Amino acid sequence: MSKLAVQADGMVITYNKGKSNEFNALNNVNAEIYPREYIILFGPSGCGKSTLLYTILGGVPPERGHMFVQGEDIYAYTPAEMNQYQQSTIGIVYQQFNLISSISVLDNVALPMIFLGIPLKERNQRASELLRRFGIPERLEDKLPTMMSGGQQQRVAVARALINDPNILLADEPVGNLDSISAEHVMDSFQDINEKDRKTVILVTHDAKYLPYAHRVFYMRDGALRRVVMNPEKTQVKHVKPGETIVTEIEQLARLYPYAEPVELKVKSIVNFVTQNFSFSQLEKLEKAILEVIKGSLDDTMLMDFLTRPLQVGGVGMRREDAPEIVKRIFTLVRYSKDVQRFREEVHNDQLFLHQQKFIDRVLDYLAEEVGLKATESQMHVLRTAIAERVGGIINAADFEERLILPTNLGGAAFDERGASMVSRYLEKLIAQGGYVILPNELLGAHT
Ligand code: ADP
Ligand code: MG
Repeated sequence: MSKLAVQADGMVITYNKGKSNEFNALNNVNAEIYPREYIILFGPSGCGKSTLLYTILGGVPPERGHMFVQGEDIYAYTPAEMNQYQQSTIGIVYQQFNLISSISVLDNVALPMIFLGIPLKERNQRASELLRRFGIPERLEDKLPTMMSGGQQQRVAVARALINDPNILLADEPVGNLDSISAEHVMDSFQDINEKDRKTVILVTHDAKYLPYAHRVFYMRDGALRRVVMNPEKTQVKHVKPGETIVTEIEQLARLYPYAEPVELKVKSIVNFVTQNFSFSQLEKLEKAILEVIKGSLDDTMLMDFLTRPLQVGGVGMRREDAPEIVKRIFTLVRYSKDVQRFREEVHNDQLFLHQQKFIDRVLDYLAEEVGLKATESQMHVLRTAIAERVGGIINAADFEERLILPTNLGGAAFDERGASMVSRYLEKLIAQGGYVILPNELLGAHT
């Protein structure tokens, strides 16, 4: 096993233990972070992001569980070892900068080196270098931090966090107090530290616009790690087996609806599939109904009744002649997506070829029902392979579509663009429903 940067193992954090306001801020959190990864802890206020970050810092002893950093159980450290760890292995940046207002900017940055017994000249030189790197000019070194802008103060804090060259940099809402231009500078400096200095960065935010910075995003809610999503736009540090993860429409929707649960995203995906020209209140009701369908508590007759019932009496108010088609499409999609789910489970268990042919037959049935797919035998052959690879997570949606369009002598299926895009669109819908298996434990357990 490669040495992990951070491994949270069944972490339970309880505040006010034994009092009437006892509160579990972390409920059995398991997480693995690899050296040189950029991880964002994301979720609504109060979900436990800061708590998880401070457990990595060594500041919050767990009620149960262990926190391993670079292979060592940090809560088993002696006080001296913990000190050493916090000075040299970890750096942290806070939302409120936390600079000492009575000493100069240069001294603020150099301060952590004093405790390591490093001579003054060397301290000042290194502090100066770091300040230059993060865009603080020499003339500001002797000033007090409060004489600087928020963005400058935070860049001083970043320099201070790096002064002892820690392997891991933590940041708790580091741009939460900054205007958008300063925020971008600070976020870019974290990216630089991750990419150029190859440091592990673990950053807390509740703002979805920063998610693209991370290799992986840990979505938290109610003290739990709900899911881990890889950023398809970044080359992953963590080794990804082919087929281990699959990027579907759900990940794209997750960017638009960052706080939504996976099942809510599935609902949105279906609603988007079957509706046009619906009003907002109709869409809302439809979402509620589809959630019940996914959960299995609404059958097709009940859905039909709900869709056609007038708005005034609590229905969706859909025209009676439109409803049957929509009900059929929803149930067909949900039914076939179960096959995708089973197939994905087999991929996870390395039983890829066990039922692959049967599975692909079913997908082709679905496409025939939805698109009225017609193809020659040789086109069918290419299509079958492409479906297996797409659902297995080996190629992405764009590759899939391209494969269908490519001429046969280049290994493609020579579909016309319209046909290829229809097939791809329906297949994506299907795997968005069935493909969501990136559950934290499954994903994170892959290497232990
Ligand atoms: P986040 O950073 O996601 O906003 P926190 O980790 O700060 O969340 O807090 C998680 C929960 O624990 C919140 O409900 C918060 O009120 C509670 N909490 C945080 N720190 C303490 C503490 N020192 N004592 C009691 N409750 C706390
Ligand atoms: Mg917080």
